[in-house]
Amino acid sequence: MKQRQNLKLEDYKWDAEWCMGCRGCTWVDHIYATGIQFPNKCPSLYREKFDAYSPFGKNKISLKIMDGGLTFTPRLLDILYKCNMCGACDVGCKRNLDFDPGMVLETFRIRAVDAKAGPMPAHKAVNENIKKKNNRYGLPHGKRKAWLPKSAKVSKKPDMLYFVGCNTSYKNKEIAKATVGILDKAKVKYNLFPQEVCCGHPMYDVGCVDDALKQAKKNIAALKKSGADTIITSCAECYKTWKVDYPKMMDKRTDEMGYKVLHITQLAVEKIKDGTLKPKHKVPMRVTYHDPCNLNRRSDDWIPWHGTRGKYGCTEPIKEYRRGVSGVTTEPRLLLGLPTGIPGFPPDIPGIPGIEAKEMRRMDVNTMCCGAGGGVADAFPEFTRDTANHRMDEADDIGIETIVSACPYCIDTFNKTAKEGERPVRAVDITQILYKSLTGKGGSL
Ligand code: SF4
Ligand code: SF4
Repeated sequence: MKQRQNLKLEDYKWDAEWCMGCRGCTWVDHIYATGIQFPNKCPSLYREKFDAYSPFGKNKISLKIMDGGLTFTPRLLDILYKCNMCGACDVGCKRNLDFDPGMVLETFRIRAVDAKAGPMPAHKAVNENIKKKNNRYGLPHGKRKAWLPKSAKVSKKPDMLYFVGCNTSYKNKEIAKATVGILDKAKVKYNLFPQEVCCGHPMYDVGCVDDALKQAKKNIAALKKSGADTIITSCAECYKTWKVDYPKMMDKRTDEMGYKVLHITQLAVEKIKDGTLKPKHKVPMRVTYHDPCNLNRRSDDWIPWHGTRGKYGCTEPIKEYRRGVSGVTTEPRLLLGLPTGIPGFPPDIPGIPGIEAKEMRRMDVNTMCCGAGGGVADAFPEFTRDTANHRMDEADDIGIETIVSACPYCIDTFNKTAKEGERPVRAVDITQILYKSLTGKGGSL
């Protein structure tokens, strides 16, 4: 069994042992609940019903793996991988306690892979595609940038690099085009990321940390060679991978990595504030906003901790906890004209004109996953479908048929599920709405 210096299940044994089964990880915190509808936030427990599938159930099972009382049976792998790695349990637990259930789940999967039991066959197929073709779909690497319009004002000496991601490069190319359109209008010196290969998120999230680390090293080497120091993403998974998982795998703090990661909505708000970007064309739409888990509660800066625990779990040095509160939730809301709870609201920037936006009951750190995360869409598509339908029921509950999000995987999941179920719901990426408002172009949304 591999024993890395970091990312060992045993590093989180204390957290799993002291989990008290209070269920704070599975329900929307009561002070944020807006009624008795939609109070749950763990897709795994909501669908599978048995405690084994809950965050606390997985904590207890991990203890039996650590002491040798259990092995990785097919049923145990079903429990471990029917989990969206959505982070709801992690921030729910940390509302009241200093535990790391999210890291128990991550290192539990790493242990399964080290034991040659995980990941699931569908994940192995995705990993092979990445290894052979540098993208999760196994499509030709040479076509990764084929969507780039000739008119894009890319710079030969860029300050920032747009890391497009596999999904956006090959499937949701309109998001990529809208993003470069926004970058052009923002008058920044940018180019596409050179020699971009998959960020490694599909590998990291299923426990294949050594494979993911190889992707990280390739991308970081390309960034260093370019001379740029800022990564722009339009994909929540790429954002989290660069910001959180690369430093985590390298056992560094995010602020020690020597680069900065911005989601395109963060740059857009900055440029609206300084007057460079002017969303002036009306986009008359009634929408709600779905927070992607990886842009939201899973994207706090990584803070390594190596120390000792004393009485009552006291730590030396003091451990800093990542409570899921510094992800990107404010900027998309500012663009859509939604309340943000930050000082100065009504917003100090003009949102996109014509948009009428309404929050779903579960939002921000209490959001419900779209159902695709954690490799679930690849290995258990019927589970993804059920969770996406449940989230769309929530949009129905507030009378909204258009879901805006900021991640191509969430967009795909809602649109595919809506089509299969012949539901009138559709999902649109926030970049497309912003681009349309800035330029009047972008077709009908
Ligand atoms: S993971 Fe945290 S919130 Fe959930 S049952 Fe355990 S102690 Fe309670
Ligand atoms: S990561 Fe999400 S799906 Fe997995 S146990 Fe936690 S709340 Fe449930």
